[in-house]
Amino acid sequence: MILKPEAACDMLTPMLSMHGQGVSQGIAIGRAVVMGAAALDVAHYYVADAETVQECDRLRQAIDQARSELQALVQRLPSDAPRELGALLNVHSLLLDDPQLIEPVCELITDQRYNAEWALTTHGQTLLEQFATMSDEYLRERGADIRQVIERVLRVLAGSPVLLPEPVDAHGEEALIVVARDISPADMLRLRGRSFGAFLTDLGGPTSHTAIVARSMNVPAVVGLGDFRRLIRDGDILVVDGSDGSVLVNPSKQMLQDCRARQQAYRQERKALRQLRDSRAVTVDKVSIDLHANIELPDEVGAALDAGAEGIGLFRTEFLFMGRQQLPDEDEQYEAYASVVRAMQGRPVTIRTLDIGADKTLDDEATVPTNPALGLRAVRYCLAKPELFATQLRALLRASRHGPLRILIPMLTNLQEVTAVRFALDAVTEELRDTDPTLEPNIMLGAMVETPAVAIAVEPFAQNLDFLSIGTNDLIQYTLAIDRTDPDVADMYDPMHPAVLRLIAHVIRVGHQLRKPVAMCGEMAGSSAATRLLLGLGLTAFSMHSQQLPDVKKQILQANMGDLRQALQTTLEQAGSVEREIFTTFT
Ligand code: PEP
Ligand code: MG
Repeated sequence: MILKPEAACDMLTPMLSMHGQGVSQGIAIGRAVVMGAAALDVAHYYVADAETVQECDRLRQAIDQARSELQALVQRLPSDAPRELGALLNVHSLLLDDPQLIEPVCELITDQRYNAEWALTTHGQTLLEQFATMSDEYLRERGADIRQVIERVLRVLAGSPVLLPEPVDAHGEEALIVVARDISPADMLRLRGRSFGAFLTDLGGPTSHTAIVARSMNVPAVVGLGDFRRLIRDGDILVVDGSDGSVLVNPSKQMLQDCRARQQAYRQERKALRQLRDSRAVTVDKVSIDLHANIELPDEVGAALDAGAEGIGLFRTEFLFMGRQQLPDEDEQYEAYASVVRAMQGRPVTIRTLDIGADKTLDDEATVPTNPALGLRAVRYCLAKPELFATQLRALLRASRHGPLRILIPMLTNLQEVTAVRFALDAVTEELRDTDPTLEPNIMLGAMVETPAVAIAVEPFAQNLDFLSIGTNDLIQYTLAIDRTDPDVADMYDPMHPAVLRLIAHVIRVGHQLRKPVAMCGEMAGSSAATRLLLGLGLTAFSMHSQQLPDVKKQILQANMGDLRQALQTTLEQAGSVEREIFTTFT
């Protein structure tokens, strides 16, 4: 039987409080699942009490099958195979008979109700830690045999029918909270289908793509927790506040009750904010503001509509390409883009071309560049792989038949790139016309403004393209020379730095002058603390994760844009003269 957190409080390690960066709102109360990188791929869920015996059987059958496989391998060994190989396979087979390997795993299934894969990796990690500290080198190396044997059983389990996981309220008391050193964006994708209460990582920053995916999953997350993972044990009770970045470990009964009350109040507040869903985002002085949603995968469109989004302002298509061996072909991409356009029923959909590179990598990439954030990323990557780019453009053009589709180009730095993208788009249009002469794509093409180069010299981009979208995540990273994923410099990642604000102000002003729409789709657009400032700078189109939409809308409904613009002007005029001089040069 699993003890409820209240009952278990007094039996766990003493209370501890930690602080990191809250990157996805919400309060979660649950139990820690501590993950090593390899353990990320296995399923974690509780089995029902009545099914633990069956789950132990599933484990034993998998072990029997793994043993048979090993014995068959020994028998099939060619006569010239090294003798050690046969001996090694026999050792592996013997390990599978060892009660010290099997019994504790069955206990975890029976007592903790872990599914077989989870129980096996948990016990495996304990064994590996024991082997790693052995003084005898020969014995230390036997750790590798344990790992290989466990992986063999996991492979068999992967092919065996799984008992249905017990329904878990991800926000309730039995929620599982993932504690990891880091979770790559690709691993986040793998974890998407499962219901976790929260994500906690030692590494990462607020605009790392791991944080971005956690937001899209609407799961509280805290990153940059330092050495947290090593302080936590599986089953510890955690209270996570994704807004202020606090994590309580094994709180007292009284504190746990207070946290539950806070969680309840938070839910009520979110419910109240949902009432704003159908009201238009209009300021007090009647300026209409576009509120769009950012998505990573097509299945997030429902949440966007549910939150009242009037369009998709950023579809990060690279997430369709990550965490898989075979890249999506044209038809698969077409289906994905068309499904979003169709679901949005005539509302605008802005789809960004592949932004691979930096912290987002493809599975088949063998070498990591020395400085991936400054390397062959995004449009540079696409222009270097014309066939891959043409496939994506073809899928986008075909999808544009279903509704208003805009194409957004990431990480531009010079105008030649725009020319090259137009050239590729024209070539693909011609090609498609051969088979479909009625094709009349009416696609708006826009630039992500996310490098200082484009923000400073934005005029030609505004003149040569149909719209601009400010990507503050990278704009801040590249302007301040701060790696957005590095927790050691996270406190210097400052959206309010005057250099960043001047660039944003400049881009908005040039957009207005040249009558080109300017939106913002970086995380700053979804921060309700920045909404008034951005309105004061003249921004009228925001795109963010669905969960952030209600807070930002509330700010807009209470704001007077004219007053904010005036107040910002006055503040600037009162600033020091050098500051003013520099600022007026830019704005
Ligand atoms: C940005 O840089 O602000 C942006 C929206 O793109 P991404 O976060 O995917 O790099
Ligand atoms: Mg970016």
